[in-house]
Order: sequence, then C-alpha cells, then structure tokens
Amino acid sequence: MSESKDFLRVKVEEDLKAGKYTKIITRFPPEPNGFPHIGHAKSIYINFGIARDYQGHCNLRMDDTNPTTEDMRYVEALKDAVTWLGFEWNESVRFASDYFPKIYEYAVALVKMGKAYVDSLNEEEIREYRGTITQPGRRSKYAQRSVEENLELLERMKNGEFKDGEHVLRARIDMSAANMKMRDPLLYRIRHAHHFRTGDEWCIYPMYDFAHCLSDYIEGITHSICTLEFENNRDIYDWVLDALELTPPRPYQYEFARLGMNYTVMSKRKLLELVDGKYVNGWDDPRLPTIAGYKRRGYTPEAILNFCEQIGIAKANSMVDVAQLEFCIRDDLNKKVPRVMCVVDPLEVTIENYEGEEEIEASYYPHDVPKEGSRKLPFSNTIYIERDDFMETPPEGYYRLTPNQSVRLKGAYILTCKEVIKDENGVIKQIKAVYHPDSRSGNDTSGIKVKSAIHWVSAKHAKQVELRLYERLYKVDMPESLEDLNPDSLHVIKNAFIEPAVIEQKPDVRFQFERQGYFYADPIDYTDAKPVFNKIVGLKDSWNKKVEKKEPAEKPTQTKKVVVEGEVAPMSESELKLYDRYINELNLNSEISNILARDAKLSSFYEESLNILNSPVSLANIVANEVARELKQNEVIKFTPTQIAGLVKMIDEETISSKIAKQVFEQMVQNGENPEDIVQSKGLVQISDPNVIEPLIDEVIAKNQDNIAKYKAGNKNLFGFFVGAVLKATAGKANPKIVNQLVEQKLSS
Ligand code: ATP
Ligand code: MG
Repeated sequence: MSESKDFLRVKVEEDLKAGKYTKIITRFPPEPNGFPHIGHAKSIYINFGIARDYQGHCNLRMDDTNPTTEDMRYVEALKDAVTWLGFEWNESVRFASDYFPKIYEYAVALVKMGKAYVDSLNEEEIREYRGTITQPGRRSKYAQRSVEENLELLERMKNGEFKDGEHVLRARIDMSAANMKMRDPLLYRIRHAHHFRTGDEWCIYPMYDFAHCLSDYIEGITHSICTLEFENNRDIYDWVLDALELTPPRPYQYEFARLGMNYTVMSKRKLLELVDGKYVNGWDDPRLPTIAGYKRRGYTPEAILNFCEQIGIAKANSMVDVAQLEFCIRDDLNKKVPRVMCVVDPLEVTIENYEGEEEIEASYYPHDVPKEGSRKLPFSNTIYIERDDFMETPPEGYYRLTPNQSVRLKGAYILTCKEVIKDENGVIKQIKAVYHPDSRSGNDTSGIKVKSAIHWVSAKHAKQVELRLYERLYKVDMPESLEDLNPDSLHVIKNAFIEPAVIEQKPDVRFQFERQGYFYADPIDYTDAKPVFNKIVGLKDSWNKKVEKKEPAEKPTQTKKVVVEGEVAPMSESELKLYDRYINELNLNSEISNILARDAKLSSFYEESLNILNSPVSLANIVANEVARELKQNEVIKFTPTQIAGLVKMIDEETISSKIAKQVFEQMVQNGENPEDIVQSKGLVQISDPNVIEPLIDEVIAKNQDNIAKYKAGNKNLFGFFVGAVLKATAGKANPKIVNQLVEQKLSS
C-alpha cells in the first residue's frame, strides 16, 4: 500500500481502530444489465482491494431488482471480469433477488410502524406532488390510510391484484425535505414482468433505495462504497436502516468519483446501443471499453489494475485521458513481451547473391539483451520488407532503403538495392538487391555504414496472417451520439506476413511486432488455417501525432525531416547530429538513438557516462530505458552518470546479471547509493559456477517430471520454463548464459 492513503482507507482504519467493526466486508454490486466496463474495473479494484488490504472479504452481488433488463449472460460476464482481474469473491455469487422475501418482511415492518404507506397517485401526480427544489411538496391524501388498510393493500399488490402503476409503497419521511430524494421515496412498485431468476414469483419489486441498504445489511457489509451520483441517496440509506431499528452493526455508505474517460462512452445503456445496433461486433469487440473487449484485444489485467491505482480514488469527478490507460498497457507489455517481425504491407526483395537458407538465432529481447529467450529466424534469398521502407526518390532525411542507400535487415545483414522492377502501371513489384556476407549483426566486419535497420521476413518461411488494427471508436473526445463514432475504427489487413516462430507459440501470447505495435492472437477467431492478430496498442501515442499532423506545418520547406521507425516528427539540427553519431559511430540501433537524440537531458547524461566507461551499447540501453523513465517521473534524480557507468561495468564484466542490475538500479533510485556497495552488501554477485548451478537444475528437473515428458515429446517451448525456474531458484543471481548452456546439456542428455 502506498504511503498516502485514500479517504476510504483512512475511514476503514478509523473504524477498525475504534472497534466499530472487527472485520471489513465490502461488496461489488453491479446490475446485470450489460457487460462490465473500465469504470467497473475501478469499482472492483476499490472494493476488492480494500477488503484484501484489511484481511476482510468482498461479496459479488447482483443488484437484480429490475426484471426487464437483466440476464444471466451478464452475470457470467461480471464473474469473468472479477476473476480475470485477479480477485475472488466471498462464498458464492449473491443476488438481491434472493433477499426479496426478507425485504418484503422489512416493508411490512415499516408499514406496521406507520413509517410507510401505499399511495395510489399515478406517476405524473407523484411527480407533481413532489414539488421542486425551491418549493416544498405536498403529501398525497392516501398517506392517511390506516396501518391495516396499508397492510392489506400491500399484500394484494404482492398477490398480483393490481395493474402496473396502480399503487406504490412509499416511505413516510418529509415532503418538504431540502433533499428531494427524501420526499417520501418509493419503496416498492408493481411490475408484472418475468424475472430471470425469480420467474413470475413476484409482481412487486423493491426500488434500488430500499433494496440496496437492506441487501448490504443482510450480508453484514461494513463499508458500502458507491459512486458520487448516489450522494443524495445516502439519506434514504440511513433512514431505512435507522427506521427499522435494526440490530447493529450496520453498514454506512461512502461515495467516490466515477471514472470518466475521453473518447469513450461508459454507460451500459450506451454500450448496449452499440452492440444491439451492430456498430461493433458484440460486447467483446476489442474497440469497446468493456473488460471482455479489453481481454480479447490483449490488454493485461496487471496493466488495468495499474491504471486503477494510478488514477486513485477522489471525491470529485474528473475526466481521465484514455492515453493514460494506453500508457499503462504499453508500459506493462514493454517489460514483458518478446519482439518479433511481421511485415504488414509486403514488398518482395530478391537477394541475388544469396544461396540456400540459414537460421539466425535472434533474441526475443534485443532491447534487453541478456534477457533469456530467442528464436530461429529463417533467412533466404526472397524476403518481404515493408513497402514504405523503400523509396526510389526519397526526401531528405529518409534513412531507410533507397537505390543509393543501404539498410540493415534487423538481426541479419546489410542490404543494397540493385534494381527496381515495376508493373505496367509503374507500381513497384519487386526489388533486386545484394546482401553483404560480412555484415551479419553482432559480427559485422563490412565497414558499411547504414542509418537504420528495418524489419523483414523470409517469404518462403513466413506465414500469411490477418491483422486487425483498431483506432479509437469515437472521433471526438466527449462523444454524445452515434454520429460521433469514428468510421475508421477498424482496419483489417489480410496479407501481412509473420515469421514462423510466432505461429509455433501457443495462443494467449502477446508480442511486439517490431516497429508496428503490440499484438495478441485473437482468442475467438484465430485458427491454424487463418491466424488472426489484434493490435493491442501502438508503440507510441500515435493519436496525438495524428491530430498534430492535421494542423498545417508552419514552415514546411525549412524543417528537415528525419524519418525514424515510421515516425515523422522533425529533428532539430543538433538532434540530427547526435542521431548520426549514435547510429554511425556508436552503432546504436535507431530506436535507442532516436530516444537519446531527442532528449537533451538524456543525451548529456549518456555522454557523461560514456566519458567514464566506453561501453556505448550497454550504456545506451540503460539510459534510454531505466534512466529515461526516472527522469520522466522525477524532477530530481539521486544517481549520477558515474554510478550508471559503474553499474554497466558490473554487467559487462558479468559480475552481476542484467536482471540483478535492475534490482540494484531500483535501490540507486531510492537512495543514491553506489552500485558496487549495493552488490557487496546484499551479496548479489552473479553465480557462474556450474558446480553451484547444476544441482539446482537437477532439482528443477526432479520437481517437474510432467514438463520434462512434454518437452521430450516435442514441446520445445518449455525450454524457457526450465531456464526460468533455475533463475528463480537463485533469485535471479545465476548467469543466464551459463544456465542456458547447462539446461540445454541436461535436457538433451
Ligand atoms: P452504468 O451507468 O455504466 O450502467 P451503473 O452505475 O449503472 O453503470 P452498476 O452495474 O450499477 O452500473 O455498477 C456497479 C458498481 O460499479 C456500482 O457501485 C457503481 O457505482 C460502479 N461503477 C459503475 N460505473 C462506474 C464508473 N464509471 N466509475 C467507477 N465506478 C463505477
Ligand atoms: Mg445502472
């Protein structure tokens, strides 16, 4: 839990301390009339989170008092959402409808106490009699009915003797109360409708204000947390529980601000309209803000919870930028997912001087090199590259392939264009090129300078896949009607080509397709015959850029444009200079170079660390990732370039693993301690001694015989599992390279 507690937790702690309750019991009480959305995620996070933090429990209760709109399908969706977010409700799912008999008894009790009466005004009259904010209301003449008469009428209402709207049961409170809700609120109404659980058993249904507080009481809820629009209902909540003179302890209601997000509609009613009207493809359409939609799209529960944590709990309504949610998704995936290559708009390249085939061992985490995990990348004489990664007559600042400019194929060789083949309409059909045998990544002795690296796939080995790219569902930030829908929210690309390793992985795996974004195998439509991937989120916030682009550029001819990794924002002269230096002198990749060059604070930090340690690539990695993150979040940072150089030196010399380095870094961030001292005092020195590691591997193997059998039966993906388990056994201190080698030996023996 964070240091500064939100007002709800402050209250909970007060109540515990005062002995008001011995155990905290909360509830999440959705109405099962639609699929839950990101707003519900916030409520789930608050209710289940508080129960978890104070060793209490949280109930999942369906607030099913409105028979006409509710459905079991929505109950299932709500259960799925809670489970997927990682929470467990107490005992079984509860239903307000289970309490109908009990609630009816409470109604009878109120009547007997003279605190409720049957009113026979019609809807319009009731409204009229209620008065206005400036004028008090009048009580209905029916309020004078005797207790006996009221009891009899209520009974007959229950028995179905009246039509809808003929009578209602009302609380006798105060027709001139300043809070309009307190002007004799309705407790029961007649509804001859079939309920999805109680069937035709009831034809009177309790109103929210009557059912909710009593359901809370029946379940022993201590803190009934709801959104701000119920603030005025709190008086009724308290009135009902007090009027019935119930045995304590009783629950109290607290309100927090509901989540609103731009470019998004969040009411279930509006979502239902989109689903029913087929403006989207069902409740789990990946463009919807429903939990089911997010899940299908590939968002992770961790990222959503992180978002809920970030937005916090406030008492004033506010609008959250959807970019913040997207940031959380990206931030989570960036740390976790493997990077692979997929060509979205293929252009064929024939490499004339290449014969045969080879498989290149390529890291899944090229940005985080010592992180274990790699795949075999087939290379052959026909490849696909992205159509816009080649330009015949490029503008100034274009750094990719042209007839006069070579480019690096990521993870592989440098490529030089020899000939451009066009069809009768002048459209480029094919490129003929040569590769440079001595330029292979990691072992480049060619001396050829290139300005960027592009992704590619081997045509013969690649698999054709469908990509579904999503834009925002609405084109305006405060959508109001269907007219605000973005007509281009879905793009389907039928002939993208993906490297084979991606297809061999089982579904439910997320990837970064290099330079394209994060993708997830569609859990419904993906088949081996037709693999379908959903775009989870782009690599950067492309939306803002798009909006910017629409505005006319100020000086279109004078700004020098540099095109990096599909990005088009111009760099200044000095940034360009740095960028050139990073790419050409220091051999950094274009992504890292781009990050460093565009940020003066970062590049000077980098240059300073480089003065101390000549390890440009490793330093760049840590500066562009970890250091950049800290600089973004904090005004003042406690660590220095010298200390970062010290940290990288220990990684380079294999004194510590890069995983441990992250741990050390976290501590440096906290207190500015020297990395060498942290490693010393915590005993984090990397374990490279096979004599220490081997017994650990044996242990992992002994404990996981079923996985061994699967591995031997051909499931080679489990290799990573074994490596991971061994690393875990040493709390990340084992040298991953050595562990890899040893595990390989053991498994093949
Ligand atoms: P909607 O208007 O979307 O239908 P609702 O408030 O009617 O929402 P319920 O199913 O009654 O939805 O809500 C269950 C719980 O989730 C309630 O406690 C409600 O306050 C909370 N909740 C609903 N929407 C939001 C939101 N946008 N932000 C935070 N909490 C929400
Ligand atoms: Mg509702």
